Formats: sequence, structure tokens, C-alpha cells
Amino acid sequence: MAMEHRIHILPETLANQIAAGEVVERAASVLKELVENSLDAGAKSIQVILKHHGRDLIQVADDGTGIPVEDLPIAFERHATSKITTLDDLFALHSLGFRGEALPSIAAVARVEVHTRRHEEDHGWSFRVEGGTTGDVEPSACPVGTSIAVKALFFNTPARRKFMKSPTTEYGRLLGVFKRFALAYPEVDWTLIHDGNPVYSLKPGDLKSRIIQLYGEKAKDHLLEVNLEEGGTSVTGFVGNTELMRRSRGDQFIFLNTRPIENRIISHAVVAGMDPLVRPGDYPFYVLKIQMDPHGFDVNVHPSKAEVKFREESAVHQVVRHAVRAAMGSSDVSKVAAKPPASTRSKSGVAKADFHRPAPKGPMSRDVMDSLYKSVDTKTSEKPVPPVDQEKARKAKIIQASPDTEEPVALWQLHNKYILSQIKSGLAIIDQHAAHERILFERAMRHFRNPPNPSQHLLFPEILELTIEDWTTLKEYAQLLKDLGFILSDFGPRTVRVEAVPSGLKVSNEGKL
Ligand code: ADP
Ligand code: MG
Repeated sequence: MAMEHRIHILPETLANQIAAGEVVERAASVLKELVENSLDAGAKSIQVILKHHGRDLIQVADDGTGIPVEDLPIAFERHATSKITTLDDLFALHSLGFRGEALPSIAAVARVEVHTRRHEEDHGWSFRVEGGTTGDVEPSACPVGTSIAVKALFFNTPARRKFMKSPTTEYGRLLGVFKRFALAYPEVDWTLIHDGNPVYSLKPGDLKSRIIQLYGEKAKDHLLEVNLEEGGTSVTGFVGNTELMRRSRGDQFIFLNTRPIENRIISHAVVAGMDPLVRPGDYPFYVLKIQMDPHGFDVNVHPSKAEVKFREESAVHQVVRHAVRAAMGSSDVSKVAAKPPASTRSKSGVAKADFHRPAPKGPMSRDVMDSLYKSVDTKTSEKPVPPVDQEKARKAKIIQASPDTEEPVALWQLHNKYILSQIKSGLAIIDQHAAHERILFERAMRHFRNPPNPSQHLLFPEILELTIEDWTTLKEYAQLLKDLGFILSDFGPRTVRVEAVPSGLKVSNEGKL
């Protein structure tokens, strides 16, 4: 078997399959590549059709320029692109794609069917590629534009097909890609259909109306407009107030010169601009569009995500922070802080910063620095020592002594917020609020284990409008919620009616819950 150790050129199909590993990680990357091509082709209307969470079908149909018939087979060859011809073009790039790798990579790991028609033609053409093997070009009765259907993704690479995450995770990622583009291009008409059901039908408009179309009418009153220019960099868009605060990073969108990017400096700057309204574990909602001279940053040309390195990071941090700060300032404060966060609720006024909040990385404003130092001070000066100091012990409120330990354990309460306790190895600081959440969590877990649980019917059932993600999650956990004592019923697309909640639950804001 010496042959196997000789150097040989990989067959084209295998080379494409390997390249596909980089470009086509999952269903969502296929969607991203197809949509980018549609946008590059000047589409004003884009329809996305999915089947079985993208496993069976990812189809993107546009009304763009179409592909010239003679180019059809070439488009599926590696490094085939109509977008750059010289290296210089790369630097003056206005299109989203340029490497000419997407179509051949996708076609290497799926069954692909293309229908395309140029404006000047009276009929279109179809073309099929299956696992890298091309078929014939045939006439097709299709509208002007291009439709590319990707069927049975990873059908010929079983290991990768198996590796795909759960259907809900994949679907969540597909929705994420769709929303990102829909927000980046509010002037484009977008449709999303999943398993034959219309999920989104988004009419062209401005960014605010697009956000409302995606996140529901309730978002309307909680959006703060961002609009600032500083040193040649402009920041526009919207940040959500505390009512739109999320518990995960999902709904944060940054576009740099219309390209969606991920960037730590900018995410940090937004939080710094909103300080002190963002509590640890809170993720503000935002859609920010940053315009700046392309020489001010480098885009890492990794095909699946755009990571950006700014030349002047602190300047970018500053302009974003100022822009967000100005947006907060320009609006009614009570609206911004619909619910004051814990750190400002503290009556003492001494410890403004949370003990648990990690110090923000990167450039920090003076007031943030100051409040952090103050909190450190508080920690050292008010840290109670074992009750040797009788005076201090009397001041601090002893709230409980642990019954099951031999030695009496001293506990103090600080600012109505923290419980300080002496333990063998030193001092334990317990966040009362977190501890209470833990107790509720334990109780919920007990209830999970012993269904059914009693329900208390609401006098006025509450109707909730959910995002598609939350709606999908809710559907997935329907049985679990029922076991807990919730009674929910469908009330139109994306809305749910809460008829009853577990008894014993403090009824106030079911939506929040
Ligand atoms: P790239 O986008 O990097 O050029 P792709 O493999 O994604 O490479 O696409 C190859 C070529 O196929 C594109 O350069 C473009 O000319 C053509 N093409 C692909 N999709 C479309 C579309 N939806 N409309 C028009 N042309 C398209
Ligand atoms: Mg492309």
C-alpha cells in the first residue's frame, strides 16, 4: 500500500468537500452565503424557504440580476467569482462575497438546484449539481432573478450530518441569520417560510419599522434612537431600554459599513454607555450601524464570520459609548429605566457598583472607575469581623443562626442586599436576591419532579406577543410548563394566552415571567 503515501493531487470533489468544512459549517452558513449572493445581485425582494429546520431544504429566491446562462456551470467551480478580478478590487470591495467559494462548497455537500433568468431573457435556465457532480443546463419557466435550492445538506458526509445540532438549535441559528440581514437591509422585502408556514413577511421600510415587524408592537415604546457622529465615524440605530433587556446575547446586532460583524469593543462600549442600567447577566437589545473609513479597520476574511480589528480601538469605543449615552440622555429617564436596576435601588448610595460585577475590560470612564473604587472601599471598611467588636455586631442586623452546626454562625445583612457570613475558610458574601432566586429554583425543580401541580386561574388571562425564538422555545417546553401548573393556549401566530399560573406564584407580570 505504498501508493497511499505518495504525494497526489486531491480529486476536485474531495477538495471541495474539505473546503466546504470551512465555508459551510451548518445550515445557517448556507443561508448566509445564498442571501449574500442575492444582495450582491441587487435584489429588492428575497424569499427564504426552509424545510425541516433547514435539514431538507434551504432555498433562497431573489429578484436580482440573474446569472448569465453561459456562467451557470462556472459559478460552481472553485474561485469562480464575478466580483473581483485583481487584488486591488479586494480593497475597494462593495460586495459581500468575493472568494468564489460558496457555491462549489455548498454543492459539494448537498443537492443543489438553480433556476435563474436575466431581465432581457424571455425564459430562464435551470441547473443541477449533486455532491459536486454537475448536470445539464436546461430551459426553465422561472421569473427574473435567481432561486437556489439546497436540498439534503450533508447527505454525502454522514458524520457532518450527524454533527448538526438539534433541530431547534439549527433553526434558531437560521432565524438569527435571517433577522440579521432583515435588519441590515430594511429597504428589502423579506419573506421566511418554514415547512409551508409563513413565519415573517417584512415589508420595506426604515430600521425602526423593521425592528417592530421583527420584535412586535410592544418594542415600539422601548427603543431609543442612536445618532451621533464623531471624528468621521457615525453611529446610528436603536438601543432598547431596560424593558427590552434579554437574558442572553442573541439580540445584539452590529453592522459596520452594512456588513454584520461581531466585536467585543463595541459590545462593551454599548454597555458602558448604558451604565448603570445593565445588571450582570443582562444583555441589552441593540441594532447599531457604524459607518467609517474602510482604512480604519481590518476585516478578517474568514468565510463564516466577520471579525473586525479596529486600528484605533479606544476611539471607536468612545464614539459608540458617547452615542449610546446621548441616546439615553435624550429620552425620558423614567422610560429608560422602566425598572430601576438593583444597583441604583440601594438606598445607601455608597456602593453604587455591584460587588459581583466584573470590572469592564478596556477603556473605562472616570465615573465607572470611581464607583468601582468606592465599592472596593466599602468592601474593606464594612467587612464585619467575627463578633469581637460588640459595637459593630449590634449595628449589623443578625438575621439567622444556622441550627445544624455546632458553632454558632454569625450572619449580617448589608444594605438590605448582601448577607455576610463567617465560614471556616473565611467570609462568605451572599447576594440575597440571588439566594432567593435559588430557593425559587429549587422549589420549581421539586414541582417538576412531582407533577401535576395546582394552577391558579387568572381573572384576566394575559396575552403575550412573543418573538419567534421564544415562541419556538415555549412550544418545546410546553409539557414542562404544563406540569409546573401553567395553562397556556394559542392565540394567533406568535401570541400565547396565559390562563393560569402555578398556584403560590406571586401574580403580577406574567409577561416578564
Ligand atoms: P462569490 O459570491 O464569492 O463571488 P459564490 O460562490 O458565492 O462566490 O458565487 C459565485 C458567483 O455566482 C457570483 O460571483 C455571482 O456571479 C454568481 N451568483 C451566485 N448567486 C447569485 C445570485 N443569487 N444572483 C446572481 N448571481 C449569483
Ligand atoms: Mg457569495
